[in-house]
Amino acid sequence: METKLNIMPVYNLSGNKKRPVIISGPCSAENESQVLATAKAIAKIDPSIIFRAGIWKPRIRPNSFEGAGAEGLGWLQKVKKETGMKITTEVANARHVEECLKHGIDILWIGARTTMSPFAVQEIADALKGIDIPVMIKNPVSPDLQLWIGAIERIRQAGINNIVAIHRGFYTFGKSPFRNDPDWEIAVELKLMFPTLPVFCDPSHICGNTELIPYISQKALDMEMDGLMIETHILPESAKSDAKQQLTPLQLEELLSKLVVREPVSQNRKFIDRLAELRLNINKIDDEILRLLMSRMKTAREIGRYKKENNVTILQAARWEELLKDRISSGQMMGLSEDLVKRFYRIIHEESVHMQSEIMNS
Ligand code: PEP
Ligand code: MN
Repeated sequence: METKLNIMPVYNLSGNKKRPVIISGPCSAENESQVLATAKAIAKIDPSIIFRAGIWKPRIRPNSFEGAGAEGLGWLQKVKKETGMKITTEVANARHVEECLKHGIDILWIGARTTMSPFAVQEIADALKGIDIPVMIKNPVSPDLQLWIGAIERIRQAGINNIVAIHRGFYTFGKSPFRNDPDWEIAVELKLMFPTLPVFCDPSHICGNTELIPYISQKALDMEMDGLMIETHILPESAKSDAKQQLTPLQLEELLSKLVVREPVSQNRKFIDRLAELRLNINKIDDEILRLLMSRMKTAREIGRYKKENNVTILQAARWEELLKDRISSGQMMGLSEDLVKRFYRIIHEESVHMQSEIMNS
């Protein structure tokens, strides 16, 4: 199902065409002095940074800090007035939207837990009808692209033109160095489906700690993401939410100064010629791969027919295990990873088994 959403680029979010758009600020607005001290330190780095702070915090367990509530919106207004930065916060229901509009919030975002719920997203969409405000939509907690697209469509259908998707990683049960697995393929798929939809990345919620943030931020830019949302706190160790993943303003400054912004294309003649040459090579190699694949499948079909004639089963576990072991070791000698060879042969084997079972049943 593909809907053509007419989504406008949003580089004007921060008042200029700089890429990437940077959004930064604390996980939560805790009190006025924490908000203002953090905002002033960020504005000193670059006043075109958009200031974020959670006002209503979705917490997994009750009795944790659930945000300052509407009072905190006044602190954000003060940030806007004193630093000139644009301000953004998370909304999860119609009342949040109304409060934000009353307090001059420039950009809204929908959090991962809200994107999970079509009822909640629709309620927000209804509250936004006839209003022109940019909305950023985080991916749902689970790796479900359709749910993400559905939320984007609901907001678009409410008449919102300026929409941004934010990739903040996906929950996985089990071991991962990340708090939320990046699963880049889902974000790339979204970009391919909606080429004009800007996609930002939220390295803070992907990583869950500060160490991995530079790596994920650079990777996001290398994947042509248009912006980064990074949590920064004036005193991270005292933060009331997400203390482990927030940067100090100094760390933010260092991170931004080290990011390499690569261009999707280069005008350099030498680069263009060499790239064309390499791509030609890739085309030839792919042609060879396809020919070999065709020839392999033809042989597998022949084996299938031969097995049928001789009343022999299709799946021969011992042969498959032996083959895979052999290919992995050959691949390793050629510098190919075990994982790649395994995944590659699994696909081929699956297709061969499928083909042979069709022959058996024909
Ligand atoms: C946040 O931005 O602080 C937040 C709660 O994020 P997410 O919805 O991605 O968990
Ligand atoms: Mn947070």
